Amino acid sequence: MKIPAASPLASYLAHQDEIDSAIDRVLTGGSYVLGPETKAFEDEFASYLSRDRVVGVGNGTDALEIALRACGVGQGDAVITVSHTAVATVAAIELAGATPVLVDIDPTTLTLDPNLVESTIRDYHPGPIKAVIAVHLYGHPADMVALKRIVGEHDCWLIEDCAQAHGASIEGQKAGTLGDVATFSFYPTKNLGAIGDGGAVAAGPELADKVAELRQYGWRQTAFSERPGMNSRLDELQAAILRVKLGHLDRENARRRQLASRYSAVLEPTSIVCPVTRPGVEHVFHQYVIRTAKRDELRDHLGERSVGTSIHYPIPVHLQPGYAGRVAIGAGGLGHTEAVCREILSLPVYPQLADSDVDHVAELIRGWARP
Ligand SMILES: *Cc1c(COP(=O)(O)O)cnc(C)c1O
Repeated sequence: MKIPAASPLASYLAHQDEIDSAIDRVLTGGSYVLGPETKAFEDEFASYLSRDRVVGVGNGTDALEIALRACGVGQGDAVITVSHTAVATVAAIELAGATPVLVDIDPTTLTLDPNLVESTIRDYHPGPIKAVIAVHLYGHPADMVALKRIVGEHDCWLIEDCAQAHGASIEGQKAGTLGDVATFSFYPTKNLGAIGDGGAVAAGPELADKVAELRQYGWRQTAFSERPGMNSRLDELQAAILRVKLGHLDRENARRRQLASRYSAVLEPTSIVCPVTRPGVEHVFHQYVIRTAKRDELRDHLGERSVGTSIHYPIPVHLQPGYAGRVAIGAGGLGHTEAVCREILSLPVYPQLADSDVDHVAELIRGWARP
């Protein structure tokens, strides 16, 4: 592919000197797990978000599982989320011992529909809903204002899955500070990406203490387990690399927004459906996702011309063999979820792309879309 769908290598090369010296510092520092780099990254990311605390963990799936456990969610509890998400979101609910209840998306922003959350909380018979996980899909925050109001009327936690939304905000308030607790993934292709696995939980002091215990054998202090725990730690190499990348996050997110407007300027006048941004939202375009009824044809057309694309996600979680039949479906069914997965296509949008790359891809699509 001349223009790949994503390029973690380009992200390394863009900051190579800084990353290499950060790695060197860790190697010669002699502390490799939960040392000074992790502590510094946690503090720097907490201050970036304007959240009391950030606790580094092994990956984004663990971050969700640990956040749920810290909220006291476990065996026999039900947790609402979407089916139009990374399987990880739903997997984490089951890993915590709870039952996923999957609710449909709003067809314009493709994020959790608050009205359906409200009716599902009301109508779900097997038991009360203990938590709602809002996924800020593609870098666009879910409607947290409405969700907060609805969830606030019940004894229920509101969790943000920010794996695709580092730096996004609503009315200037960062994703990661809009619910009771938030989780991040630092998988290499994310907006803030490590060179390996990594994750974090952002929370207030009380939940953050529980998270810090859960990530390491339930220890409150070394060798004293306050609660049953696990091992999910952020390592020093990843933390040092993330400190470098965090310094570039805002500029890189702004670059993603620039590339997104370049695409939209060419594609909006065509039959292609372009992404929309709700008023007040700062989108960070983890993905730039278009919609067309002839998605597979367009994908082949671009592939034959050396342009990589991807589909996030081709099969909703409730239709995956590993989950079908076991997960519960929320009020109103999953009609939009099942419809959009046949139409969506993620175009290349990483910050190291040149304007000319995006112009080239946009022109290929415009030529294809012409009646
Ligand atoms: C990437 C991702 C995760 C999982 O993160 P990992 O670090 O791969 O475990 C969870 N939720 C969403 C929405 C994601 O995009």
